[in-house]
Amino acid sequence: MVAKTMDQLVSLCKRRGFIFQNADIYGGMQGVYDYGPLGVELKNNLKAAWWRSMVYERDDIEGLDAAILTNRKVLHYSGHEDTFSDPMTDCRKCKGRFRADHIKDGKCPNCGSTDLTEPRPFNLMFKTTVGPVDNAENLAYLRPETAQAIFTQFKNVVDSTSRKLPFGIAQIGKSFRNEITPRNFIFRVREFEQAELEYFVMPGEDEKWHEMWKEARIKWWEEQGLPREHINIYTTPKEDLAHYAKACYDIEYQFPHGMEELEGIANRTDYDLGNHTKGQDELNLTSHCHPNSDSTTKLCIRDDESNSWVVPFVIEPSMGVDRGVLAVLTEAYEEEDLGEGNSRIVLKLKKHLAPIKVAIIPLKKNNEAIMNKCHEIKQNLLKLGIGRVALENTGNIGKAYRRHDEVGTPLCITVDFETIENQPESVTIRDRDTMEQHRVNIADLPTYLREYFLG
Ligand code: ATP
Repeated sequence: MVAKTMDQLVSLCKRRGFIFQNADIYGGMQGVYDYGPLGVELKNNLKAAWWRSMVYERDDIEGLDAAILTNRKVLHYSGHEDTFSDPMTDCRKCKGRFRADHIKDGKCPNCGSTDLTEPRPFNLMFKTTVGPVDNAENLAYLRPETAQAIFTQFKNVVDSTSRKLPFGIAQIGKSFRNEITPRNFIFRVREFEQAELEYFVMPGEDEKWHEMWKEARIKWWEEQGLPREHINIYTTPKEDLAHYAKACYDIEYQFPHGMEELEGIANRTDYDLGNHTKGQDELNLTSHCHPNSDSTTKLCIRDDESNSWVVPFVIEPSMGVDRGVLAVLTEAYEEEDLGEGNSRIVLKLKKHLAPIKVAIIPLKKNNEAIMNKCHEIKQNLLKLGIGRVALENTGNIGKAYRRHDEVGTPLCITVDFETIENQPESVTIRDRDTMEQHRVNIADLPTYLREYFLG
């Protein structure tokens, strides 16, 4: 297999409208990207696949969509104000700033100088003020993870759904971290999306569920097109665990820049619910929570078996959506040698992830009869609910095929003179991966495509 580089992916993403540098026309903003016409489709499809597997296919998970602006107290009692930091080092020579744990051999990654300051903690949370008065009382944060709102809404979800353990709350949304050195395209950015599940279990059953979720999440990534041999499971050593975790697995993927974290699966114990609960003293908490929470609510659940109130343990599979997009793009990207000096770039995305499912291509540009037939086919295909169906009017079939190969469109349907002149009406279907073409009657298209995409 030909090695794929980040440059190839960045170039394809810009050329074909997947991902653009934010504020490009003003020189860009470091660590901030915008998703273009095809990027938004791909990202939505990945999120939909996650949501389907978490919320629709299971019977023990509810969804949530909480606010990004976060009350300061939430992040005070969660421990983030004190501990959500990375060690930062300055280079005295070039004035560059770096994450101390990213520095190799004691040398500045920018200029090679060894004249570096001692590492000091740098809090990664973005601050803002809420309301017209800019003072300490009105300080709030942009959330650094989606998880905290799941914990603070725990009681409301339990009360409104009558859930019993084990059960989970799933959420997809933006998170913000003022990364010291954003890098590697959308891998490490300052504004990103997370898809997080907080799965609440009986204390004592946490390790079993931690293993179960590790296996389930590996399987899910395989279903998104990442082969097992490109995935590594890293068990975080005790001394490197986040302040809230008892144990953590990282699902790592072979990105173009190396084997790196795609998703974390942490055992957060009763730490978070414990931090945000009222009356901590009366509860049998196992973790060292922030003492004396200001919370007005007891975040626990009734256990019918022991007839007591329990603060559940939490298993958290937390995936970075942007890293997921980068991983599936990396895996799908191929440059194929077609022989005789010809080659093509093709994105072999799983069909449920493809931004455009079907492209309808007229053989001749601006031909009224052909275009009318194209519109009619498109309207009928939309009713199938398979996703985006694109209509071309370029008149250059070869170019259209190349473009749709590059953006991963699984099928192209060509409408030609035969379609409108012969009975029964038929079209040519071309397969992205095999490039094979065959004729299908228009009357059979719905069944054919339903089977292909949803079967
Ligand atoms: P890292 O060690 O790479 O900084 P992390 O361990 O701090 O990541 P978590 O707090 O476990 O990350 O967040 C869960 C997931 O959110 C990560 O697995 C990753 O996919 C995603 N994520 C975290 N930080 C970023 C970022 N700056 N840019 C893009 N995705 C991120």
